[in-house]
Amino acid sequence: MTCESPTHASIAQRANERVAYFNGNIVPESEVAVSFRDRGFKYGEAVFDTARTVRHKPFKLREHVVRLMRSLRYLGIQPPLSVDEFMQQSEAVLARNLHLIGEDEDYWIFQRVSPGTADPCDSSSARKPTVIIECTPLPLAARAPQFRDGARVLIPATRRTPPDALSPRAKTHNYLNLLVADREVRLQDPGAWAILLDHNGNLAEGLGSNIFLVRDGELLTPEQRYVLPGISRDTVMELAQQESIPARETSLDLFDAFTADECFLTSTSLCLLPVSSVNGRAIGQGVPGPVSQRLIDAYSRLLDFDFVAQYLNKLA
Ligand code: PLP
Repeated sequence: MTCESPTHASIAQRANERVAYFNGNIVPESEVAVSFRDRGFKYGEAVFDTARTVRHKPFKLREHVVRLMRSLRYLGIQPPLSVDEFMQQSEAVLARNLHLIGEDEDYWIFQRVSPGTADPCDSSSARKPTVIIECTPLPLAARAPQFRDGARVLIPATRRTPPDALSPRAKTHNYLNLLVADREVRLQDPGAWAILLDHNGNLAEGLGSNIFLVRDGELLTPEQRYVLPGISRDTVMELAQQESIPARETSLDLFDAFTADECFLTSTSLCLLPVSSVNGRAIGQGVPGPVSQRLIDAYSRLLDFDFVAQYLNKLA
């Protein structure tokens, strides 16, 4: 058998292919095949959560899995694994994918669960949830310029789904509201971040981020009822307390955004990304502002890792 044989070629390809947990087994990603009858595919009836690694180690994995459990409970999907089992399997998938990224890179770790193909109206149909745990490299290079220049935020006309229709506090596979809004913004400015208003006209959140404003030294963020309670949002609130920076949840409208001293986004992958403008109006006197910088420093100390440098090192 020569090295050119198909068998050798496919083995080599496997060595370069990430693996994922799929319904009890860890398999090459190309072997993860979800039925077209899966309710996650048919109706968006599924939940997910996303942790990240920091220097190849998961950060706040338990908090993410606990939030996944709450999302499952909201949709009435029976948890297929315990918190500890989700964590163990996430660690196992990560360990088998680490050789595929550089030392200076990190992964998102996604856990995804749908009720599977069972018809909920038919009690005889077997309930077998679909469970996937997978890793995706963080888009460090694509986002690096934003850490240099600050993020441009645009407010789309599409409003965030109101909590009396479907709670934004659950992280479900139904992202259509956020995707439609994000598309609206990216057609105007491909590099901009959408932050949707809620149905009252107050700032809510974006496709994958929470928003904070700083006014007169105080940190302000939209109320939890209208947004996903971001793990990084919680982290920033805790860091603010440690740093004796006053912080609270409140209703914030466009007046608050346009007149803010500072603004930033938080998310698992970004940690904290300063915002340079909202709808084209410059915020503050350059990024990062002093309060944002204090929180970036505190976040980096918590991680024992300079997350801003990780992004900036990827500048072309
Ligand atoms: N809001 C939405 C809708 C999200 O999807 C995310 C990302 O998961 C966030 C906010 C930020 O949450 P976290 O800090 O847990 O990543």
